[in-house]
Parts: sequence; C-alpha cells; structure tokens
Amino acid sequence: MLDGLDPEQREVATALHGPVCVLAGAGTGKTRAITHRIAYGVRAGILQPTSVLAVTFTNRAAGEMRGRLRQLGAGGVQARTFHSAALRQLQYFWPKAVGGDLPRLLERKVQLVAEAAARCRIRLDRNELRDVTSEIEWSKVTQTVPADYPAVVAKTQRDAPRDPAEISQIYATYEELKRDRSVIDFEDVLLLTVAILQDRHDIADHVRRQYQHFVVDEYQDVSPLQQRLLDLWLGDRDTLCVVGDASQTIYSFTGATPDHLLNFRTRHPHATVVKLVRDYRSTPQVVHLANGLLGQARGRAAEHRLELVSQREPGPEPDYTEYADEPSEAEGTARRIRDLIAAGVPAGEIAVLYRVNSQSEVYEQALADAGVPYQLRGAERFFERAEVREAGVALRGAARAGGNDSLLDDAEGLPAEVRAVLSTKGWTSEPPAGSGAVRDRWESLAALVRLAEDFERARPGATLSDLVAELDERAAAQHAPTVQGVTLASLHSAKGLEWEAVFLVGLTEGMMPITYAKTDEQIEEERRLLYVGVTRARLHLSLSWSLARSPGGRAGRRPSRFLNGLRPGSVSFAARGAAGGGGIERGPEPVAKRGRRGPARCRVCGRTLTDAGEMKLMRCEDCPSDMDEALYERLRDWRAVRAKEIGQPAYCVFTDKTLMAIAEAVPGSAGELAVISGVGARKLGRFGTAVLAICAGETVEEVLGEAADEV
Ligand code: ATP
Ligand code: MG
Repeated sequence: MLDGLDPEQREVATALHGPVCVLAGAGTGKTRAITHRIAYGVRAGILQPTSVLAVTFTNRAAGEMRGRLRQLGAGGVQARTFHSAALRQLQYFWPKAVGGDLPRLLERKVQLVAEAAARCRIRLDRNELRDVTSEIEWSKVTQTVPADYPAVVAKTQRDAPRDPAEISQIYATYEELKRDRSVIDFEDVLLLTVAILQDRHDIADHVRRQYQHFVVDEYQDVSPLQQRLLDLWLGDRDTLCVVGDASQTIYSFTGATPDHLLNFRTRHPHATVVKLVRDYRSTPQVVHLANGLLGQARGRAAEHRLELVSQREPGPEPDYTEYADEPSEAEGTARRIRDLIAAGVPAGEIAVLYRVNSQSEVYEQALADAGVPYQLRGAERFFERAEVREAGVALRGAARAGGNDSLLDDAEGLPAEVRAVLSTKGWTSEPPAGSGAVRDRWESLAALVRLAEDFERARPGATLSDLVAELDERAAAQHAPTVQGVTLASLHSAKGLEWEAVFLVGLTEGMMPITYAKTDEQIEEERRLLYVGVTRARLHLSLSWSLARSPGGRAGRRPSRFLNGLRPGSVSFAARGAAGGGGIERGPEPVAKRGRRGPARCRVCGRTLTDAGEMKLMRCEDCPSDMDEALYERLRDWRAVRAKEIGQPAYCVFTDKTLMAIAEAVPGSAGELAVISGVGARKLGRFGTAVLAICAGETVEEVLGEAADEV
C-alpha cells in the first residue's frame, strides 16, 4: 500500500490520528497521498470504511476518488462533494427536523430572481439577471444576508453589477418567494444542513456517530459556508485531514479563501503538517517556470509558496512565441498541435488553455481548418452560444432584407453593416465595465464583428449574405462530431487536470491579467491562474501572445507582465525585437540606478536587464552560468561565520546573487571585485581581502584564522 509513495506522502498516509494538513504544490500527488491514507487506514483496521467522509469540489473529482479508493480496496468509503454530502443528510433528516418531505430543489434560480426583480420594479436584461443571480450566490456562500450586502460590497470593494441597494432588495424578495413556494436552491442545501446541525444536537450527534474521519481535497478553495458545515460535522473532534495549495486559489471571486488552509496550524496546534514538494507531473523545465512565476507572487498565499522539485527526466524548454496577430497565433498553435499529433502525442493529451471562453472561437476555427478534433470543456461551443445564435438570426434577417445599402458605400461596408445589426443585440464599440455575463455576451458579439472585419479583408466587396454563408459553414465545420479531441478550456476549468502538452494562449496584458482585475489581490489571483495553467503540463508547454488583434492591425499589445524576467533573454529573442519585429517589451531601462554606466546587459546574451536580481548576477537567470560551485559553497560558509560574528543576517554581508556573481567572475584583484554589483566601496574595504583570498583558493578556515589574527 505504501510502496507507491515517497517518504512525505507516506507520512501523510500513516498519520491516521489527529489533524493533518498537507500543503502540497501542484502535481505533487496530493490526491494520491490522501486516497492511500484512507486505504491504508482501512487495511490497518484503524478506519472503518463507512465512518470516513472524503470531500472534494467537483463531481468529477469525487468520482475519480471513488474509483481510486475502490482500486485500493477501500470501496466502502464515501467520496462526495460538499453539496452532495449535505443533500443526502438533509433528505434523511428533514422529516425529523422539519416534518414532511424536503422542499423541491430549484433547478435554476434565474426565473425566480427575475420575478423578484419585477416585484421590486427593477428592470434587468438577461445578462444583468445572470450577474445579479451570481451575486446572490456569492452572498449566500459568504453567509451575507440581504440587509448586509451593501456594506459588505463597500468593504470588500466588490464590483457589483447593479446598485448594491437594489441587489439587496432583489435578494431579499427572492428569499421570500422561495419560502412562499416551498422551494430551496443549491446554496440552501448547505445553509439548511448547517442550520439543522446547529439547532438539533440529537441530529448532529447522529451524524457525528456515523462519520468519524474527514478528508478534504482542494481545501484552498473552501468557502466560509463549507467550512462551517465541516466544523459542524466534526463537533469537538479534530479527526480531519486537509490537502491544498494556496498558490492555486483561483475561486476567491466566488467567496473561497485559502485562509482556512493557511491558518490550520493555528486552529489545530497539534496538527501534523506535511509539505510535499516533489513534483511527479512535470519536467524540470516546466517546474522551473512554475517556480519562477510564484517567485514573483505577492500576498498571503505567496508567503506560503513551496518551491517545487521535479522528479522527471528533463524535457523540452517551454517555448514562447510572439505572433503578429490573433489568427496567426491560432493557426500557428493548430499547426504545432498537428505536428505533435503526427509525432505520436494523442489528441486527448493536448490542451489549449485561455483566460475567457470567448477566446475559444478563433481556436475552434483554426483546429477545424487544420482537421484536428477538439472538445470544449466548461463552455458551449461558440456557435452554440445563445447570443451567437441570436446574432446569426439577426444577420440572416438583415441579409434577406438586402442589407443596409447606405452603409455599403462606406469604405468598410460589411463590418459597418454587421456592427449596425449587432448593436441591436447589445454590441457597443467599447466593452461594458466589469466582468460577468454582460461582458461575456459582449465578447461573443465582438468576436463576430472581428470575424466580419477579417472576412471583408480577405474578400473585399463581400456581402452580408456571403458572410452569413461563411458563418453557416464555420458552424457546420465546428460541429463535426469529435471523439478523442484536443481540449479547449478556460484556465479555471483546467484545475486539477493534466496533459502531455499544454498551449497557454493569448498571454497579453488585458487578458492575463484580465483588464478588470484591478486590485493587487485580483492581480495576484490572475497570476495564480497562470500558475495553474503552467502546472497542467507534463512535458510540452507553449506560451504565446499576439501583438495585434487582427492582420494589419496596430501592434499595440504587450505580452503579459507575469512573463517579465521569465521569458528567456536569448539573443535570438532580443534580436528579433531589435530587427523590427517590434513590440517586444523590454521594460524601462533603470537609468537612475545604472547612472552613466548605461543599461545593465546580460553578459551571456546581451539582453537589457531590468530585474534587480538579474542585474546583480549580470546575466539572465536562464542564461547558462559558468559559476564555480565549490567556490560558491566556500563563500557561503565564510559568509555564515562572518554574519554571525558581526551579529547581522547573512545577506548584510553579501546577498546570494552577489556571491554567485563573485563565484562566476572569480575576481583576481580588488579592482575586479569592485565592479561586481552589490560589492561597493564599504564592503570592499571590510570583506575584500577575505573574499579575494577565498577566490585565490584559500580555505575558509585559513581566511577566518587570518581575520582573527588581524583582530
Ligand atoms: P494538482 O495540484 O494539480 O491537483 P495533485 O497534487 O493533486 O495536483 P496528483 O494529480 O495526485 O497531484 O498527481 C500528479 C501526477 O503525479 C499524477 O499523474 C500521479 O499519478 C503522479 N504521482 C504522484 N505521486 C507519485 C509517486 N509517488 N510516484 C509516481 N507518480 C506519482
Ligand atoms: Mg489534485
């Protein structure tokens, strides 16, 4: 049972008593460790299968967990989502706690929210309705009652889709309507279970007798309401094992928070805390990038980041490709996917991941053109989306009516016509503020406008009927039935999954981070989202962006800030920018810092350096290092003793980066040492002799002895 585990995973599996918290990075085998823990406990006779409740966040994950447990001989263990576990309990205890049958579960809230809005005399269009519904959901999982909603919005700087006072009113009315009609919604399942367990000690005792041990996967995304339920299940016991990775918190916007994971030790001082850092999923190259991304992260989750260590054979470097425009990016990606498939990588082992679902269209098209099967995860296919179908109907109607002739004389007749038709469906020249359904709808319509622009460019003089025919053709091509296809998915829906090859596309400022991420916290969540994307790849990882939206358009886009300092500063890359490829962001030159010495340049590849650490090293972090490792170790040993002697932290003597630079340069004179960044006149005077002696081959003991003699 324990053979397939590494020592830390084994520690998790064998820590069967008391609270256990596993802080594990992506791909470190969290699920593997906890399923083995349960199975081991059952085999050892310490855990009764029926007394264990394992909770995860999606039905798919729960199903997978049940499968793994069965394989390990622990099939009797319950593995469920919070929701399905609560629903079962609610159904069972409702007759006793309340009487009668459990009220009907409302399948979709939207209808009732619409009624509530109408009663409040607030007009909502379809998209606002969806956004207000999401706000009600958010309020419920954060246990915010209607009256408190406006204050909470103000406090958390939430981007409310309507006036918070209005939302509060609709929310209150919605709750009344539900009560009047004896229906409950998805969130009520948890809320009511919590209420019953809170009020009825006999029922709480019953549940607690049944379940003695609890295991929670993806604990970083637990909502306050789910945590409350978990606390009630536990009572005063602490037989709980949680697994999570704060760096993968990507659902804060729905009310989830990694605080429960990060504060676990405080709440359970006797907890066994295990950290897994061996990454079994990805190659060292992929892991290096993942670590680099997290290295730049800030905030609470980042303070707890774990440096991953890959256990796999080296593989190809992640590649970075800059395209002139979006269609080229999609075509380039499709071409590379075709090559991978030709080289033997199954289509089902390849994924294209993007930030928002509306980005899928151009990839759906490019893959269809390239004859590559694909499947969309977590979203409808572009041409099946309601707004796209509606827009299609409107365009067809306009085409049948002969189009708008007054616009046909216009220089760009067709796009102008399309914009006119789509503006009746909610298209505007500027995107609406904020995120949510209104924005999603706008993005879909904007994608259609772009399609018309591209079509017109490719076929000048084309009519609206030509465009409609083209749309039909595309829709038909994209609807081709797929078997095992390439996955097209948003980064959010890719969580927990893995593929042999991953393409992260559209990595420009505005998409990653997305424009509406404004606060530092929102930006950090975007960074974590990219981290989740990177860590999905086992072997091949490609990152790309395009400088313009459409061919011939203004190349005003910049690659994602998250890649600064991580994109390799290879000569060819920099040269491409210099040769007029244009737009490759070089960042501001740190003039003030470098003074008259000019911008710092990598001494290996010549790229302009902007990262402080790289400036110290005088090379790109990724460029090959010719550091004398043994010398570096000796310098570190010496530094440790000196720092202790002067009663200061080691970095006050010299930072790691400076020591690395010294070990690379191996200075033979005070002059050569002085030009190394981070040395300076004062440190040269104070430590110069010792450092030069170590560089000349003297041992640390000898050098320290001499220093002692001098004293
Ligand atoms: P994520 O954070 O992305 O959800 P995770 O921590 O849940 O990742 P798993 O999906 O359980 O990680 O494991 C990642 C991969 O590594 C899987 O393919 C798994 O089979 C493999 N793996 C995990 N532990 C080991 C091990 N000790 N030996 C060999 N393979 C392992
Ligand atoms: Mg997992």
